[in-house]
Amino acid sequence: MVYSSRGLALLLGFCIALITTLFLSLFESVKMNALLVAFAISFSVAYLLIFVVLEFLIFREINKIYKLVGKLKKKEYAKLDKQKPAPLNPLKTINEDIFSFAELKQKEIDELKKLEAFRREFIADVSHELKTPIFAAQGFVHTLLDGAVNDRAVRNKFLKKAAKSLDGLDMLVQDLLTLSHIETGQIKMHFENIDMYKLTEEVFEQFEGKADKKDVHLKIEGHGHSVMVYADWQRITQVMTNLISNAIKHSQDGSEIIVSFDVSKKNVVTRVRDFGEGIPEEHVSRIFERFYRVDKSRSREKGGTGLGLSIVKHILDGHSTRAEVESVPGEGSTFSFKLPRAKPDPSDEE
Ligand code: ADP
Repeated sequence: MVYSSRGLALLLGFCIALITTLFLSLFESVKMNALLVAFAISFSVAYLLIFVVLEFLIFREINKIYKLVGKLKKKEYAKLDKQKPAPLNPLKTINEDIFSFAELKQKEIDELKKLEAFRREFIADVSHELKTPIFAAQGFVHTLLDGAVNDRAVRNKFLKKAAKSLDGLDMLVQDLLTLSHIETGQIKMHFENIDMYKLTEEVFEQFEGKADKKDVHLKIEGHGHSVMVYADWQRITQVMTNLISNAIKHSQDGSEIIVSFDVSKKNVVTRVRDFGEGIPEEHVSRIFERFYRVDKSRSREKGGTGLGLSIVKHILDGHSTRAEVESVPGEGSTFSFKLPRAKPDPSDEE
């Protein structure tokens, strides 16, 4: 009440009328009736003047600002704002609202700045990654055009190298597209009951040639028993493909890669273990970042795009889980992830 224009006008009007009347009462000649009239007149005039000034010049403008802030608040941070009781002091409430609004905006600005820095870094990384195979292929093609094409042996060698660079470029673009599709939500997860044992066998088949070249033995623990989980077959195949491909790339020649399943009441933990070079501790937390490589030149030599684990991370995010890594440099690494066990099939219960 006190903070409304009417309340303030009443209070101040009363004070002014009282002071005026008290002042007039000092003169003995002024009669009681005249004093009452003076009180009434001075109260009415003061009340009216103060009310008009407060209502039309100050409170109306403040209310406009308050309504505007209210609208912005509703639009911008409905979740943050718990409905407050009617404001006692509108100036104080506006002050608080503007302050929390500014705080929220500052947070958004910080987030946008971070994203902008990330975007810049990402573009720089992508350009760099694209440049390497393009320059290599360009170099071979130009050398051929400059005359090497006439020498049959050199021609075949250079064409093979150019093709290899272009294959690398193709792999990189495919991985970038997969990442962007997952991020923009264009790829919808299709959850169903899937057999991890069978899935691993299929992925192993793909890598038989590569493993044989390094004399790496691919092994699944579990004696052929199915290991049912609730997940997206295609996406988890991609996760296992990337993990097993990395395991082969970083394995010692003649070693083993072991996939095992740890089945508990609710979940299944899948582990991919290799006995390769391992990952130094300071790098472990960063290997899931895009284009992060422990040994830049050697990883490229091994044909990696630097996006494999980033894709793994995104797919597992989509399954509300994440990959864990245990690694000892020189001894090997184990990548593992947890998935929920398969849901009971209603047709089985009948
Ligand atoms: P890349 O295409 O280079 O393999 P990834 O995102 O798949 O990219 O992996 C990132 C980096 O993590 C690799 O460059 C490698 O240094 C390291 N890494 C991944 N898996 C293994 C592994 N099984 N053993 C040792 N290092 C690994």
